[in-house]
Amino acid sequence: MTDRYDMLVIGGGINGTGVAQAAAAAGYSVLVLEKSLIGSGTSSRSSKLIHGGLRYLETMELSLVRESLYERSLMLRLAPELVKLRRFFIPIYETTRRRPWQIRTGLSLYAVLAGFDHGTEFGSLPKTQWDSLDGLRTKRLQKVFFYHDAQTDDQALTRAVMASAVKLGAQYQENARFHSANLGENGCEINFESDGREHSCTASVIVNAGGPWVNHVLAGVRPACKPRKVELVQGAHLVVPGEIERGCYYTESRRDGRAIFVMPWKGATLVGTTETRYRGHPDKTHALRAEKNYLTAILTHHFPRYREAVADGRAQAFAGLRVLPAGEGHAFHRSREVIIDVDRKNKPRLASIYGGKLTTWRATAAKVVRRLRASLPERQERAGTDEIALEPVD
Ligand SMILES: Cc1cc2nc3c(=O)[nH]c(=O)nc-3n(C[C@H](O)[C@H](O)[C@H](O)COP(=O)(O)OP(=O)(O)OC[C@H]3O[C@@H](n4cnc5c(N)ncnc54)[C@H](O)[C@@H]3O)c2cc1C
Repeated sequence: MTDRYDMLVIGGGINGTGVAQAAAAAGYSVLVLEKSLIGSGTSSRSSKLIHGGLRYLETMELSLVRESLYERSLMLRLAPELVKLRRFFIPIYETTRRRPWQIRTGLSLYAVLAGFDHGTEFGSLPKTQWDSLDGLRTKRLQKVFFYHDAQTDDQALTRAVMASAVKLGAQYQENARFHSANLGENGCEINFESDGREHSCTASVIVNAGGPWVNHVLAGVRPACKPRKVELVQGAHLVVPGEIERGCYYTESRRDGRAIFVMPWKGATLVGTTETRYRGHPDKTHALRAEKNYLTAILTHHFPRYREAVADGRAQAFAGLRVLPAGEGHAFHRSREVIIDVDRKNKPRLASIYGGKLTTWRATAAKVVRRLRASLPERQERAGTDEIALEPVD
């Protein structure tokens, strides 16, 4: 294996593999270092939605929603085995905070931002069909809206993106932990550990795609770069036996008004998510009892038939960490736009990715490669990332 690369990517999550794909497609040589397995970090612990983010309309993140909806339609086309269009139901009760007119307005705007493409059909379900909704509580139910979004297997998608990058010449190493890097005028020297041994390589540029570990990775870089102030916000999910069948449900927590999804997932039902400020090391994240109780209460309130499955302890849980800009107020209202920091304005040698969405991985990757282009050698483009089909690896 050569030890000189145009680009070295730290982190094999959706953002790191996406950057590797974009770089390889642009003709660059690239190596991804992943301290564990490809897609085993946050990119296996998301809500698994490839979506515009209906709720981001509440915070008026219109450009993020438009970009995400564009990426959704692209993924449906490029990765039909990995990204599937699903019907979502939004039950509105007398006590639901979001009123029918707000939902109708939101769904109309969502369809406009998607350019009325395939998957923008929405409406309300006749009362006569409510009984077919997986045992959904119908007491004080006023209306049920439906719309469409897409679902994926996040880790399988990440592995598929890595495989597509490999086809274009990229390399990756699993169980390879980045330790340190020196950013020089004529390239960067990188030290990492793999198979219990120290290794080194050089690269023109480095991409720090460490997800919640982003500032831990940055701490190993010399000259030192100022870390961005971020908040890690944990999101937990429950996986409950017994698949919800008709589609995905967009429910509302009665306690705090947060949107909670109830979705089919590999023969079971996935319920999420929470927002809990996290101060520990990213390696140690796990779903808390309070989070499990919160999600259980929402699930069993809307779908009483799950009471037995959760009572006898058959439900499982997992948790991941969002990287959000530090700030005042509730995390729910904090921007979900990705932030890309570079070590210096002219000819940057290092780009660090903060936050972002699974859905927008390809757009994020394109932005990262664009930011670093001035520091990369001339290469012949091999493909456009909006044309690369993605297939399941296993
Ligand atoms: C609860 C939750 C729900 C979400 N739901 C959705 C959703 O439904 N739809 C959506 O679009 N987005 C969603 N997101 C956002 C999305 O999951 C993340 O933005 C995305 O997965 C982040 O990917 P990443 O590659 O930046 O990070 P990660 O997937 O965490 O990848 C970072 C990688 O870096 C590796 N690493 C760290 N340190 C080192 C080192 N020293 N050396 C080598 N490797 C290292 C880690 O092992 C890890 O694999 C959700 C996020 C959360 C937390």
